[in-house]
Amino acid sequence: MQTNVPLWRQIQKENFHSMNALMDFLELSSELRLHVLSSSHFPLNLPRRLAEKIQKNSLNDPILRQFVPLIDEQIESFKFVLDPVQDKEFCKTPKMLKKYKGRALLVTTSACAMNCRFCFRQNFPYETKDKSFEKEIELLKEDDSIEEVILSGGDPLSLGDGALSSLFSMLELIPHIKRIRFHTRFPIGIPERIDASFLSLLASCSKQIFFVIHTNHPKELDQDVLGVLRKVLRLGIPVLSQTVLLRGVNDEEEVLLSLCKTLVNGGIIPYYLHQLDPVQGASHFEVSDEKAVSLVRFLRENMSGYGVPSLVREEPYRLSKTPLQA
Ligand code: SF4
Repeated sequence: MQTNVPLWRQIQKENFHSMNALMDFLELSSELRLHVLSSSHFPLNLPRRLAEKIQKNSLNDPILRQFVPLIDEQIESFKFVLDPVQDKEFCKTPKMLKKYKGRALLVTTSACAMNCRFCFRQNFPYETKDKSFEKEIELLKEDDSIEEVILSGGDPLSLGDGALSSLFSMLELIPHIKRIRFHTRFPIGIPERIDASFLSLLASCSKQIFFVIHTNHPKELDQDVLGVLRKVLRLGIPVLSQTVLLRGVNDEEEVLLSLCKTLVNGGIIPYYLHQLDPVQGASHFEVSDEKAVSLVRFLRENMSGYGVPSLVREEPYRLSKTPLQA
């Protein structure tokens, strides 16, 4: 193995990108292979550690369903569109969105540790040539109503520590920016990303950091994942979680309860349970509002209040996420 490349980058190179290789690895029967798409506009990208958690010769595994393109994606539904949250309407630059008061979101990269089949940004016109944030930093400097910058993407942890460090340095110089929020799924697939270098970068930042992970099923949260998130918590950085409610993945009372308990036992606050953003190809994941509300009611009846996420939906042009009553 090369030594000048961080371990997490070397591990990332082992991600599955070939459907045939993955189907062989999962020992899928020829009958089950008929339900898998051999190619997709949003390509397969699956870390090996997640693939290793998938039950062999089954299409019902909650991890498989999140990452492997199935023929269900070809179901057409008028409600499911290319840009369900109208991201393009809110772009101040190709890499900066401004939706809610006091906050701006940087689309830091197009890359992710894994490609989720239900990703609402899978058709986003990512700017891939200009990797600088000069224009965005200028806009942030000019608008002193912005107190919080959300690092999103793609996944901001796809950036190397050098790029993140230079972004931090620029944000440090803007006094009205008080908080930096990470939105990441990286630790679920490649926990090695949270290494000593990244932790020291977090520790060196004078702004208050919030670290928000995206996790949908308790199977994603093993001791390695919880262990690295504990290291982030030990820096005094709050770790929260966001979950997307997905049919066939986590739309069962006991699954969601186990997810929330695993999170809070790891010191992580369940923040949001999102109703699915209706992106084209994801209609098979839809859960009715009625069922979503009933699932959250069950959580509330079985968990401490701080362990119950807010059930919300994103509706374009609203001033905040829309809460669903539970
Ligand atoms: S990790 Fe997040 S941004 Fe990346 S594909 Fe999944 S949902 Fe989309």
